[in-house]
Amino acid sequence: MSKIEDFLTTVQEQVIIKAIEVAEKNTSGEIRVHIENNTELPPLERALEVFHLLEMEKTNLRNGVLFYVAVESKKFAILGDEGIHTKVTENFWDAEKELMLSYFKKEEFSKGIELAILEVGNKLKEFFPYQLGDTDELSNEISRG
Ligand code: CA
Ligand code: CA
Repeated sequence: MSKIEDFLTTVQEQVIIKAIEVAEKNTSGEIRVHIENNTELPPLERALEVFHLLEMEKTNLRNGVLFYVAVESKKFAILGDEGIHTKVTENFWDAEKELMLSYFKKEEFSKGIELAILEVGNKLKEFFPYQLGDTDELSNEISRG
């Protein structure tokens, strides 16, 4: 893994944004992806900081999910807001992290992120179904640190 500039191609980035759109047609949950080069912090701790920097707590149902990747540090985390945490078990996040890791090991980063996003969308559908009149509360664009 090198730097964030090389982490995703333009095409891969579009594929991920598309996956977020698809996932958000299943659920009122809002998914974001943030990538940066380095962090000194444990990834989940840094993900929490980024979550607040991106004001991801500003969803009606507190159901934002952040996919966080520190490229050079080779760390990543998935963080769900409190609305989600009361519904899903720790096993769910572990399973998604395992899925991502299995692709990251093959350096198929975008594939791992894409598939995990789609699975999270499917899972959130159970608890936070998509509803008519849904708004895009959080941007689907990938943010960079
Ligand atoms: Ca939405
Ligand atoms: Ca969105």
